[in-house]
Amino acid sequence: MGERKHKHVRVAVIGSGFGGLGAAVRLRRQGITDFVVLERADSVGGTWRDNTYPGCACDVPSHLYSFSFAPNAEWPRNFSGQPHIRSYLEHVTDTFGLRPHLRFQSEVQSMRWSNEELWWEIETASGPLTADVVVSATGPLSDPKIPAIPGLDTFPGKVFHSAQWDHDYDLTGKRVAMIGTGASAIQIVPAIQPDVEQLTLFQRTPAWVLPRADRKISAAEKWLHAKVPATRAARRGLLWGLRELQVSAFTKRPNELGMIEFLGRNHMKRAVKDPQLRAKLTPDYRIGCKRILLSNAYYPALAEPNVDVVASGLKEVRGNTLIGSDGSETEVDAVVFGTGFHVTDMPIAHRVTGAHGMTLAEEWKDGMESLRGASAAHFPNFLTIIGPNTGLGNSSMILMIEAQLNYLCDYMRQLDVLGDRIALSARPAAVQEWTRTIQRRMQRTVWNTGGCDSWYLDANGRNTTAWPGTTAEFKKVTRQVDLAEYEVLRRPAAAPSTEPTAGAAGTGIDDSTEVAA
Ligand code: NAP
Repeated sequence: MGERKHKHVRVAVIGSGFGGLGAAVRLRRQGITDFVVLERADSVGGTWRDNTYPGCACDVPSHLYSFSFAPNAEWPRNFSGQPHIRSYLEHVTDTFGLRPHLRFQSEVQSMRWSNEELWWEIETASGPLTADVVVSATGPLSDPKIPAIPGLDTFPGKVFHSAQWDHDYDLTGKRVAMIGTGASAIQIVPAIQPDVEQLTLFQRTPAWVLPRADRKISAAEKWLHAKVPATRAARRGLLWGLRELQVSAFTKRPNELGMIEFLGRNHMKRAVKDPQLRAKLTPDYRIGCKRILLSNAYYPALAEPNVDVVASGLKEVRGNTLIGSDGSETEVDAVVFGTGFHVTDMPIAHRVTGAHGMTLAEEWKDGMESLRGASAAHFPNFLTIIGPNTGLGNSSMILMIEAQLNYLCDYMRQLDVLGDRIALSARPAAVQEWTRTIQRRMQRTVWNTGGCDSWYLDANGRNTTAWPGTTAEFKKVTRQVDLAEYEVLRRPAAAPSTEPTAGAAGTGIDDSTEVAA
């Protein structure tokens, strides 16, 4: 590929969700315009574009679940719905002049590091290109997971995943099975329950569900936030600070979370009067071990006469009949899988081949690990946004994304200082040391000790997704790239001719840019 004419960019960003768009904004603000954002679909938004299921909303308050550099005084609710979040991301794209960088229908099919050229050779659905640096912002919630259920192919009715909602299929009057009790399922259940004839919830593990303090944001508040930006900042600061104070209970003193369980049980008691149903819905693990869910509508929906909870997983399908692990049989017309995503087995990892000729999936066969959540060993100039151990249990992922973007910006600065034809490769010893520290700290967290299985843990039972600290700490440890943790790779002088891509000129970004969604 080095011999042929190809597009070359300084940076290729993969994905145009919060991570990819955030990277694009920060690159431009740093004066880097020679970059593209490769997107497999035909619009931006990532998981907030794909998830359109009824009731889809964010369970993190919008004033915190948004970019610090793109505040939005117009958020309609404390917890805004998917259409508003998607529209916010479209506005970020326009406001920050990102359109010229977007390459839609450009799914990355494979990527290989060239040890000779010190660049990434990328094959995409819209053609090949090379890039000095790749920012992988594919996100952990991008590839839906449907469990391999024996006989599923014999089911004659409709089957779809929560992230691939079929809006042409009308659930009205149908017998529907909802599989799963995660954050997606608990939003779907109350949204579809009034319309369906019968709803059967397959609950392998009951969730801890707390009240959701949702309300409309009043016109007066919006006016104040628009006219006096300090009020908006104060609101965000308060939302952030309250969550930071909770972190030590998750990471160091899980027993303190017992008090919250009382709230959860009470929340259920108020809506579910049937003691048998309450017993089915009561979790037997520490709250916080799995992601805590927020809903005022979930328990009331489960108490409705057209809803049945099967307290077991879906084991098998025989024609129209769904067989639970408890042996129960339920006839349905449609099956909705709320069974989550490929979080710990990141699909892009199979497509990326590093400096040692192995794929990232092979490198990570014993579990994902990257220096400061960003750099895997043997994958030079390849940075992940929402990489290993950057997930949160109780706060906004946008804070973690922005910390990783700080790291990206410093990485680009370091490359500039080092000069042309340079790449950085994380030292395996530094990656291992970082991972050892994380895993040591993980030992006492609620995710590891709370007595549950969750998507925080990989197939080996190792927590490769969560960050065992505060967002402030993560921000601090990702403020700067420590060059001692990297090997500096240098390329010989001559380089083949390349055809530069058109980049948008100038940064033109104002820190206080307002984005109305
Ligand atoms: P999820 O949290 O991974 O939940 C998957 C569910 O499927 C679990 O309840 C799991 O049971 C169940 N399951 C898997 N196989 C099953 C089987 N054979 N039979 C019955 N149940 C089965 O997926 P999700 O709800 O889509 O959430 C994914 C991610 O998106 C999470 O990070 C979530 O927090 C995030 N999300 C966030 C929001 C938000 O408001 N910010 C909204 C939606 C989703 P077990 O518990 O027994 O494994």
